[in-house]
Amino acid sequence: MNIILLGAPGAGKGSQANKITERYGIKHISTGDAFRSNIAQGTEIGLYAKSFMDKGQLVPDDVVVRIVESRLKEPDCQKGFMLDGFPRTLAQAEALDKLANIDVVLNIQSTPEIVMKRLAGRRSCACGACYHTSTYDKDTCEKCGGKLYIRDDDKPETIKNRLDVYAKTIGPIIDFYEGKGILVTLNGDRSISDVFEDVKRILDDIN
Ligand code: AMP
Repeated sequence: MNIILLGAPGAGKGSQANKITERYGIKHISTGDAFRSNIAQGTEIGLYAKSFMDKGQLVPDDVVVRIVESRLKEPDCQKGFMLDGFPRTLAQAEALDKLANIDVVLNIQSTPEIVMKRLAGRRSCACGACYHTSTYDKDTCEKCGGKLYIRDDDKPETIKNRLDVYAKTIGPIIDFYEGKGILVTLNGDRSISDVFEDVKRILDDIN
């Protein structure tokens, strides 16, 4: 089963991805996580990507597509994968079309005011876990004990830019997958578990 998760930053893609991996055992591929890990390791790609990420801009297509292409060839993706944060442009969607067959695109739709609040209160851990200040007031991770931090691109001025970029680029991607008849839109303004009930219904049907 090959899945794409679409949705604005803060729509809840990462939270659904964790639950999907837990239940269906398919590999979670987040291009944002791949860049953050490259940044942490100080690689050339990481340095290059950071200059775009810190401004809330997209990393150029050729770099992102190369990363995804090589990742999808790895053995752990052969039984299925879930892309989170990719594609973000029509060119990326068209490139992916040549690389893999996608079964379903889950489009998690959330209102801008809600995603702004979620991102502004988000605290992240290097292990991939995320918390929100409204429901978690510790500064260490419950799962690994790591120190929580605010992502550079979760600062208010960058959040606005990221949401603007998303609004400007998502239309043609939605049309592309709608045209293929594989797009399902979900209301992402609800709790993680409520959204996941819908996700389960859809994925159980195609699994
Ligand atoms: P995310 O964690 O998915 O919100 O991604 C964080 C940042 O990484 C984005 O704001 C972009 O700068 C960059 N990025 C992640 N995925 C992509 C992509 N598919 N295309 C271009 N830039 C990306």
